[in-house]
Amino acid sequence: MKKTIKDYDLSGKKVIIRCDFNVPIENGIIKDESRLKASLKTIRYARKNNAKVILLSHLGRVQMEEDKQKYTLKPVAERLGNLLRKKVKFIAQTRGEELENAINTMKDRDVILIENTRFEDLDGKKESGNDKELGKYWASLGDIFINDAFGTIHRSHASNLGIASNLPNGIGFLVETEIKKLQKLTHKPKKPYTIILGGAKVSDKIGVISNLITKADYILIGGGMAFTFLKAAGFNIGSSICEKEKLSFCKEMLDKYQDKLILPIDVITATEMKENVQTHERFINEIEEDEMGLDIGQKTIEVFKQYLDDCKTIFWNGPVGCFEIEEFSNGTKELLNIITSTKAYTLVGGGDTARAAVTFNYQDKISHISTGGGASLAFLEEVSLPALDIIDEK
Ligand code: AMP
Repeated sequence: MKKTIKDYDLSGKKVIIRCDFNVPIENGIIKDESRLKASLKTIRYARKNNAKVILLSHLGRVQMEEDKQKYTLKPVAERLGNLLRKKVKFIAQTRGEELENAINTMKDRDVILIENTRFEDLDGKKESGNDKELGKYWASLGDIFINDAFGTIHRSHASNLGIASNLPNGIGFLVETEIKKLQKLTHKPKKPYTIILGGAKVSDKIGVISNLITKADYILIGGGMAFTFLKAAGFNIGSSICEKEKLSFCKEMLDKYQDKLILPIDVITATEMKENVQTHERFINEIEEDEMGLDIGQKTIEVFKQYLDDCKTIFWNGPVGCFEIEEFSNGTKELLNIITSTKAYTLVGGGDTARAAVTFNYQDKISHISTGGGASLAFLEEVSLPALDIIDEK
């Protein structure tokens, strides 16, 4: 068992908490604050126990100087302050005198948010490349390190692995909950256990397909990734999205696991991926050359339903169609309806799938919506999770 924030006496200590404040921000307005809300429990606990709270997070990908304005964490500090009913002091730098002075003058229960850790990527990928000096520097600012950012738990960054390597450490409540919920899928999941995989690309999911195919009873494949499988199975997929370099992987999996990998039998097609476009429902041997498949069809939904109805465990990652466009949202909506009507333990992971669940208002009917997409897949694959593995055992 990993140490948690509860295993430390926090009083008077400078506690660095790595949060996941990677939220969508448009013109300074936070569009979805669920990640902020999910982090409150750990921050509140640290304050209640008289810690000096130092928060760190990444936001977006910072590749050039101009990205800094777009990806500043300043709006997060303001909103977080409102949610906590306590001023969150924002430090507009990731290192330096202003930051050190602010920390040195903190009182117990004060909260500081440091600027986006990925600003350090502009200078030779120091954050994402886990630069040793940077991890050491950030660690030098505190006494205890708590990792509460599940979304990056599978990554080796200076702000998680780097700091944890240099300080007594533990996990926060958010990460603890994610582990407990995901373990229901890795430790003797109740059977039948079916996985739904969708989203744009097969390449993101190769690890999970190869690994989970032996653990789950069925994997239902939808979304853009279904078309590489369908082409590998010999169908003409028109101009649907296809990853040619993954065809042999898909063929190999289909040959080996034809009874377990379930592909669409019909799809919704169009010549363009946009609103108000003319759509057709086609069997997969009827797709025309200039058409692309953008959602699963009604017959596929019925087939998938049969594999889901009596399930005891269901995991879903990746929408089965371009759900952002009304015309191609039906499959994702219907599957949300189907899985939430079963008695199964349902776990949804991945930013887009979670967003679909919220958009179509199913969030309260799902057993657990994971805050991490890639992280939840990596957890289920049971590959090493560097930022979790480094955390001290009790
Ligand atoms: P991912 O990040 O790989 O989970 O992909 C999510 C994205 O896949 C969503 O934005 C969907 O719009 C997109 N998607 C789902 N189905 C398809 C499809 N048939 N063709 C192209 N993109 C799709």
